[in-house]
Amino acid sequence: MRNKPWAIDYLESNNHIVDVNNTYSKRIKEFFSEDRPVHIEVGTGMGTFVTTLAQNNPDINYVGIEIDKNVMIRVTEKVVELGLTNVRLLLLDANKLMEYFNEGEIDKVYLNFSDPWPKTRHAKRRLTHKNFLTSYKQLLKEGSLVEFKTDNRGLFEFSLMSMNAFGMKFENLNLDVHDDEPKENIRTEYEEKFSQRGHKIYWIQASF
Ligand code: SAM
Repeated sequence: MRNKPWAIDYLESNNHIVDVNNTYSKRIKEFFSEDRPVHIEVGTGMGTFVTTLAQNNPDINYVGIEIDKNVMIRVTEKVVELGLTNVRLLLLDANKLMEYFNEGEIDKVYLNFSDPWPKTRHAKRRLTHKNFLTSYKQLLKEGSLVEFKTDNRGLFEFSLMSMNAFGMKFENLNLDVHDDEPKENIRTEYEEKFSQRGHKIYWIQASF
C-alpha cells in the first residue's frame, strides 16, 4: 500500500476509534462504551472481516490490531462509515501484545491470512510461532479459541505443527473452506483475492 504522509494525523483525528499511542494500554475496556467480551484480530488488514463480524455480533467488542498505518486508514474509514461502537483499532506490532493487554482479558483470537514469512530464518515472525502462541495463551481466558485461516499451505502446516507442539487441542479443521462454504464464513480481502486465483482456503479452530 502506498505511503500516505498524512496517515498518523488522520488516525489521531479518529482517536475515539484508533489507539495510535497506546493510550488504552492495560485498560482496553475503557476504549468501549459498553463492557462486553473482547475478541481480537491480529493483522486486520483492510477490515472487512472485523467490521462484518462486529455487525453480526453486537454483543462482542472487537479489537483490530494492525501494524501498518496506511492499511489502518482503510479499516478506520469502514468503522466510521458503519458507525460501529463495538470495534476499536490498535496501531500496534503483535510483538507488543503482552505489553498492551492484561492477562486473561481476551475471549478469542482471530488470525486471517497472516504473512507467511517463508524463509526459515524469519520463522519467529510468523503469528503462529510458539512465541506468539505463548502470548495468546496468557491473554486468553481458560479454554478460549484461536481461529486461523490462510491459503498458504506451508504456513498452515507450520501452524499445525507449532500448535500441536504447544499442546493445543484442535477443535475444528477445514482444508477447503470454499467447497461447501459455511454460511457463517466471512471472506477477508486476501481470501477473496486468493480464492479467485483458485487457491484452497485452510481453517482451524484450536484451544489451549
Ligand atoms: N487479515 C487481512 C486479510 O485477510 O485480508 C490482511 C492479511 S495481510 C497478508 C497481513 C496483515 O497483517 C497486513 O496488513 C500486515 O500489515 C499485518 N501484520 C503483519 N505483521 C504484523 C504484526 N507483527 N503486528 C500487527 N499486524 C501485522
